[in-house]
Amino acid sequence: MSSIKPARPEWQVKPETPLQFLRGVGEGRARLLETAGLTTVYDLLYFFPFRYEDRRLRVQIADLRKIDRPVTLRGRVVSAGSKISAVRRLKIFEAILDDGTGTIMVVWFNQPYLADKIKRGDQIAIYGQPRLDKYGRLQIESPDYEKIDEAGDSEEEGNIVPVYSSVASITPKVMRRIVSQALPAVAHLEDPLPPAIRQILAIGELQDAIVRIHRPAELDETFLSSRSPAHLRVILQEFFAFQLALRVRRASEESRPKGRTIVVDDAMRAEVRRILPFRLTGAQKRVTKEIADDLRREKPMYRLLQGDVGSGKTIVALIAAVIAIRNGHQVALLAPTEILAEQHYQRIRQLVGSSLRIAKGTGSMSAGERRTLIAGLREGVIDLVVGTHAILEEKIVFKSLGLAIVDEQHRFGVEQRQKLFEKGDLPDILVMTATPIPRSLALALYGDLELSVIDELPPGREAIKTAVRGAAQIEKVYRFIDEQLGEGAQAYVVYPLIEESEKIDLTPLSQGFETLRQRFPGRRVAMLHGRMPATEKEETMQRYKQGEIDLLVSTTVIEVGIDVGNASMMLIMDADRFGLSQLHQLRGRVGRGTRKSYCVLIRDERSSEEAKQRLRLFEGARNGFDVAEKDLEIRGAGDFLGTRQSGIPKFRFGNIVRDHALMERARDAAIGYLESAGLPAAVALVRELIGGGTKHVTRD
Ligand code: ADP
Ligand code: MG
Repeated sequence: MSSIKPARPEWQVKPETPLQFLRGVGEGRARLLETAGLTTVYDLLYFFPFRYEDRRLRVQIADLRKIDRPVTLRGRVVSAGSKISAVRRLKIFEAILDDGTGTIMVVWFNQPYLADKIKRGDQIAIYGQPRLDKYGRLQIESPDYEKIDEAGDSEEEGNIVPVYSSVASITPKVMRRIVSQALPAVAHLEDPLPPAIRQILAIGELQDAIVRIHRPAELDETFLSSRSPAHLRVILQEFFAFQLALRVRRASEESRPKGRTIVVDDAMRAEVRRILPFRLTGAQKRVTKEIADDLRREKPMYRLLQGDVGSGKTIVALIAAVIAIRNGHQVALLAPTEILAEQHYQRIRQLVGSSLRIAKGTGSMSAGERRTLIAGLREGVIDLVVGTHAILEEKIVFKSLGLAIVDEQHRFGVEQRQKLFEKGDLPDILVMTATPIPRSLALALYGDLELSVIDELPPGREAIKTAVRGAAQIEKVYRFIDEQLGEGAQAYVVYPLIEESEKIDLTPLSQGFETLRQRFPGRRVAMLHGRMPATEKEETMQRYKQGEIDLLVSTTVIEVGIDVGNASMMLIMDADRFGLSQLHQLRGRVGRGTRKSYCVLIRDERSSEEAKQRLRLFEGARNGFDVAEKDLEIRGAGDFLGTRQSGIPKFRFGNIVRDHALMERARDAAIGYLESAGLPAAVALVRELIGGGTKHVTRD
């Protein structure tokens, strides 16, 4: 820290000092800085460089020809002048530097004001990339420069120099000078994390970390990949603050008991056994028990049930529903598409017969159906409603909503979950996802949910044979499909249309449908997409389920949840246009029965090397979690979860993808702290952390 000079010797810069008091800031620049959320010196301490320049390579002009990387050199200006380039009408400022071993031409474009700053006779240090001009003469274009003072001292020359982003019209270079003045205030910074937590998180002191990030000692791999002790300290503090805030919020909510007592008795167990058409897998039993235990607790359940496609989440949800209903409460099951809601409705009816009073609630209900539903839920004559977002509307009121289940929850935003939640008096909540979110990301997104994982598929499931083929080989693929259909199997053919957009161009799908109809004259071919009238969609799905359709040509509406055991062939057209997780979801539509199943991905002959590699990677990945990790790496968290996902926390220093493991460490530490220190202390610490260094942690 000794290298950092205070702004004015007689005057100490403190974290709370307003920025206008810094040398070279003043009121005008202070206002500009404020637009970027920088008001005090404290804010500047956390205003980190986004890259660094290693200016330690100091050379003499005579040696320049041997070097092809940015260098630092110092010399006297022997001539300087401006001119206008004839070709591009650029304003050019030129200077010739002499360091005693030789001279070099230095050129700046469109910075005419330099003429007032760099004068003949000045001693300057520059940092830039040496090049040969078209005549083979050495020159350096637009280098960073620094004037050397009388004593020959300089701040940047020959150092590792931090580069900050510009703020409004304040250049990176000026930002560097401003931040430099803030740095001595680090000495007055209190570490908000008690030593015990620092120890658990295995991190060092805040002061050192901040100084090191602004003024690295070394630019090694560890530092540049944000893995230095300084980086870990800052990231873990940010994650810890986030996790503790989640825990505190939840602990406060839980301080009120849910006000209903749930018991599980033998009659219910017998009923569940009657309903079950198969034996639960070990994983299903385990998560069912986790859920039943939660339901019986005084505090409301808040649990994420995660399981690969086809792992059997629906039956677990149904068991939970039976428990809630037999204890006298209502249950809502929310699904993202009408097709899926319909499927759940049919399946559950089939399993429970008339022992439960079930209703369906979707956007395509008639006015009469809607009235019946509203009355039934209000008066408590409906036990279970299965529906889409239509059941979130205000008119829908429950007599006593005890359990809210959200299927494929990544398709819903926080707001929609909240709406459902508010329809009950602290209802128990179970959210399910077949998008295998890596555990670390689940923690980041839903750190306040408990996590149950079904990590085992029902018995007898064979791996789905997956292959990637170029579009030119399509005829061979058709022949294979025909063979399969001949053996009584059914197939899906999926075209990449974005179902969520308002405008949807159905041409590729309709053309594909026509082509396939002609190619498979003896087979029953049908088409399915989200824009079809609900009744038609339902009818088509029903016919497919009953084996009356051989080949279903569809958009991604069948992506989530659809379950037809006899379908064993999935053909995905233009596969390069899907994300890996989406491909995995689609592939999960087959391999649900006893037939050997296949998934063939057709890619464009001209697809990029990168796209090919991605598909190859998918071809080899069996487990949804592997796919998700890879997808996350390739696309980043935002795209991975889709634009419709809300509630992704934004971090300033940490990166959910890169810093997986740190998030888990932070979560464990937060849980431990809340337990040992108690709620009031944790609330105080959250205030301190979020009001201070990590106030940028937001959830939207
Ligand atoms: P997902 O987890 O993708 O929602 P589903 O609940 O739709 O999966 O279940 C997939 C298929 O597996 C369904 O046909 C279901 O009946 C079947 N299934 C679920 N659990 C078992 C089990 N324990 N044994 C046999 N089949 C099961
Ligand atoms: Mg499902």
